[in-house]
Amino acid sequence: MQWETVIGLEIHTQLATRSKIFSATSTAFGAEPNTQASAIDLGLPGVLPVLNEEAVRLAVRFGAAIGAEIAPRSVFARKNYFYPDLPKGYQISQYELPVVGRGQVEILLEDGSVKTIGVTRAHLEEDAGKSLHEDFQGYTGIDLNRAGTPLLEIVSEPDLRSPQEAVAYAKKIHQIVRYIGISDGNMQEGSFRMDANVSVRPVGQKTFGTRAEIKNVNSFRFLEKAIEFEVERQIELIERGGQVVQETRLYDPTKDETRSMRTKEEANDYRYFPDPDLLPLEIDAAFIEAATADLPELPDAKRARFRADYGLSDYDANLLTASRELADYFEAVARICGEPKLAANWVSGELMAALNKSERDISDSPVSAAQLAGLLERIQDKTLSGKLAKQVFEAMFQGEGEVDAIIKARGLKQITDTGAIETMIDAIIAANPAQVEQYRAGKDKVFGFFVGQVMKASAGKANPAQVNELLKRKLQG
Ligand code: ADP
Ligand code: MG
Repeated sequence: MQWETVIGLEIHTQLATRSKIFSATSTAFGAEPNTQASAIDLGLPGVLPVLNEEAVRLAVRFGAAIGAEIAPRSVFARKNYFYPDLPKGYQISQYELPVVGRGQVEILLEDGSVKTIGVTRAHLEEDAGKSLHEDFQGYTGIDLNRAGTPLLEIVSEPDLRSPQEAVAYAKKIHQIVRYIGISDGNMQEGSFRMDANVSVRPVGQKTFGTRAEIKNVNSFRFLEKAIEFEVERQIELIERGGQVVQETRLYDPTKDETRSMRTKEEANDYRYFPDPDLLPLEIDAAFIEAATADLPELPDAKRARFRADYGLSDYDANLLTASRELADYFEAVARICGEPKLAANWVSGELMAALNKSERDISDSPVSAAQLAGLLERIQDKTLSGKLAKQVFEAMFQGEGEVDAIIKARGLKQITDTGAIETMIDAIIAANPAQVEQYRAGKDKVFGFFVGQVMKASAGKANPAQVNELLKRKLQG
């Protein structure tokens, strides 16, 4: 039997507000446990939540970025359940009327084609606290600092058909929230958490199969692996005559498997009802205009412009627009040195490799855009060959200074003086009569030997194009 995978993602992204969604308590990460949880965050009797306008502004920005309608009126609801990290017994969320309606994003598939993925909705809600299982032998600690932190839950349509598509979609949402500045997207700190709803069905079947929901995945690699495992598990189960049950599962990265956590609650288990402490949220055109007026160029538009304006390949345009910081860096290098393609090659090649290796982000690159552009100018004016430029780049990355200073200090200037190269070639030809004879007898392969000898004699500094040309002429005799 041929199976088709169906996936829908629910992504919780923490909104970058300074205070919580319904109180003035700080949202700063890393404070001592339970020092940033006020009576409001804990839902103690006698307090009233007040909605943080900034959280609404950020949600509206997201809606605009995915072409969604912003609800003129949305409603906060109480989702009732008890869990140790939610001592007040309910989470304030949005249910029937979310602030952001249906929108869509485009993802780039591996074969280069584009697929549109529907976003069903995005709603505002508060986060719960955090259970700390590791720090206390035999006990679980509860840190309520995170309680009341604003989240935007972004729900996709079940449009994704493979783990790879799910990852591409999640990366796209991550890219968008960071571009528009509504979240830092920091996955280690839990600012971007993904739930994957996964089901399988025989190819050709119209109705969906029963899904399992894998909760709280916090890396793209784990997302891919968790879904892969889950798809295999469901197919095997069904093929053995079993049935998938609707449940919540957890992914264990050390064992690379998903495990059942609890059977899935139905919506009516939560006894949703409009929160009596909060008025409906009303948003008018002026608020939307003010919230979205300064939206930056979005990733898709930037990618298209990079292709059109700089003649970049799909691959390079995609890579260089991964983040705004990287795109800005590339554009600065291209502008200063005037050679976009050369700039693209160096930023996506040498620079990215060096940054990855030293586990650094573009925003703390030890080589500035101006410095890299300076290096590329020395390639263009033929002071440096590509090979020498790589050496200079490495020195620059180690903080040895500007391009010209490094060239001088290391004596790396390329030799482009024809006379000097000819002298070396003449000496090498004279010293290797046997190889010259072979070459002249038609053994083209020895040409490489001569190139190697000249490069060696010049300590790698002879201009390779000139070496090739002069060698050909001289060897012909
Ligand atoms: P719930 O309210 O239980 O969370 P929703 O209907 O809101 O359920 O759906 C949650 C997520 O599950 C959405 O992203 C949706 O696309 C996805 N989903 C729904 N049905 C399926 C299915 N059969 N297989 C895979 N994903 C599904
Ligand atoms: Mg859900």
